Amino acid sequence: MPDVQLALATAAAGAAAILGYAHGRRQVAAVCEPCEPCEPCLDDGETVLATPTRGAPATSAPPAGSGSHSSGGPSPRHALVGGQGYYGFSKDADSIRRRENYIDWHDYFMSVATLSAFRSKDPNRQVGACIVDPRTKRIVGIGYNGFPWGCSDDALPWARDAGTWLDTKYPYVCHAEMNAILNKNCSDLEGCRIYTTLYPCNECAKLIVQSRMAEVVYLSDAQSSKDPFKASRPILALAGIRSWKHTPSVPRVVIDFEDDLAK
Ligand code: ZN
Repeated sequence: MPDVQLALATAAAGAAAILGYAHGRRQVAAVCEPCEPCEPCLDDGETVLATPTRGAPATSAPPAGSGSHSSGGPSPRHALVGGQGYYGFSKDADSIRRRENYIDWHDYFMSVATLSAFRSKDPNRQVGACIVDPRTKRIVGIGYNGFPWGCSDDALPWARDAGTWLDTKYPYVCHAEMNAILNKNCSDLEGCRIYTTLYPCNECAKLIVQSRMAEVVYLSDAQSSKDPFKASRPILALAGIRSWKHTPSVPRVVIDFEDDLAK
């Protein structure tokens, strides 16, 4: 079975070198640079963010006493057992050291968006989206571009160009952002962040605004010269929704089923 490779972005090929490692510890500040307001949440699986304010950069202050790398204090989980020390029984330093080369939160959520795009039947463009509540870092919606529910993937056209608009895919396809929003597994998306592999078009931008989301993170802006994508910029800006291009900290994330089966 061939490997499935999720190429996050070729432009990020040198990102790992930029991040660097110091004595086996990741330099967190470099990772967080594109998303300054959210710095404390990115590399600490035990830190929960303060609620972001829509239309203004979220305050990055984690709850008092949490955020081991932001405040210098113990994480909530460590605090429960009394401090930052090790509470196991082994004295073997190698056996208690945590794994270092895990992917960060932004790469993780963008990987989920990218993997979702693998489901698309569109022969020309596959887009994926993943909505996250940054306060809990839980995924609350996933989508990819495709025809509406119940419409056969073989009954409508996938063409980009045709004699008439009705013979193209455009009247029929639901975009990834739309599907992610409509697939939400929570009551509302206020304050949420959407990761999308392509900068949203004007129709999706309107849905993002009306859903009261707070932030858009995109991987590619390859369609920026087209009108629908030009129109989405003022929509998001006027609504106070921050958008920024994600630069992956690793050039690729690989899913190797054969490797996992062999473990
Ligand atoms: Zn769209």
